[in-house]
Amino acid sequence: REAEAWKARFQEARTRDGHRVEVAANLGNTAHALDAVERGAEGVGLLRTEFLFMAHAQQPDLETQIGEYREALDALDGRPLVARTLDVGGDKPLPYWPVPQEDNPFLGLRGIRLALTRPEVLETQLRAMLMAAAGDPAAGDPVAAPSGKGRPLRIMLPMVKDVSEFRAAKAILDRLLEEIPEAERTTDVQLGVMIEVPSCALLAPTLAAEVDFFSVGTNDLTQYTLAIDRGHPELSAQADGLHPAVLKLIEMTVTAAHAQDKWVGVCGELASDAVAVPVLVGLGVDELSVSARQVPLVKARLAEFDLEEARRQAELALAQATSEAVRDALEVR
Ligand code: PEP
Ligand code: MG
Repeated sequence: REAEAWKARFQEARTRDGHRVEVAANLGNTAHALDAVERGAEGVGLLRTEFLFMAHAQQPDLETQIGEYREALDALDGRPLVARTLDVGGDKPLPYWPVPQEDNPFLGLRGIRLALTRPEVLETQLRAMLMAAAGDPAAGDPVAAPSGKGRPLRIMLPMVKDVSEFRAAKAILDRLLEEIPEAERTTDVQLGVMIEVPSCALLAPTLAAEVDFFSVGTNDLTQYTLAIDRGHPELSAQADGLHPAVLKLIEMTVTAAHAQDKWVGVCGELASDAVAVPVLVGLGVDELSVSARQVPLVKARLAEFDLEEARRQAELALAQATSEAVRDALEVR
């Protein structure tokens, strides 16, 4: 199976009956982007930029960041890059950004909340992303600004709880789009939010009216929905993203997004779970972002079922009461 999947890795990801679902790669290091493309990734669905910040003793400056983002975009050669803004705090401390001691770091100053306390850091990061995605006309890049639109850049905000944080970040982005001449930046840019906090899924209709896309971070969404620490030594096995409550939140997200013609990805671990793949497709998810190693396998998994089957599996899963019941119900099929 694995050998077959490897051979077919450059084919466009589709279900057996041809329904298109993009399969992208999750990345923590821009140097691995080329490897992801060679494994068949159709883009990067989550660049965890915090690792780039953690790799430096101090905050990387504009030029350093441009160089790193450009490395990923060069390797992607016109495929989209979903770059997440700095997501530190919680389980990911940054030595040069001391955060006051908190009793509950996972419920504290992390993700976009922390970033908005240092808007100048967020601004530099956004500027670097926009400029890196301009492309290089000297290198013969056909989509490079100014004649082209630049490379497809999808900026994603982590740990958003409602539209207020999105608006605050968008105000910074809009100002940069005014400031940076078009020839020096991409114009092919979208701004989206991660669905990681249940409040965002519950309020998805109000968010969907303003964002360009959603990407469901099932790791954190499961943690916050089930109130189980994702890294807990005894409990983390119960933090199963196939829990019907989590699936219900994903369904609400997709319904709200599609009503506004916005796309929805899933970039948490659930996206590469063989049992979950048809359920997510049946719920209407448009993109799955998984570790590069899993890309050929997820593509092969998609080719095993058709959309109608996926919808039936999603319905069946939503009708269960526990994650165990979901897995039991799906595995016998
Ligand atoms: C998630 O929470 O599902 C996610 C993709 O983000 P991270 O794992 O980096 O927190
Ligand atoms: Mg997360």
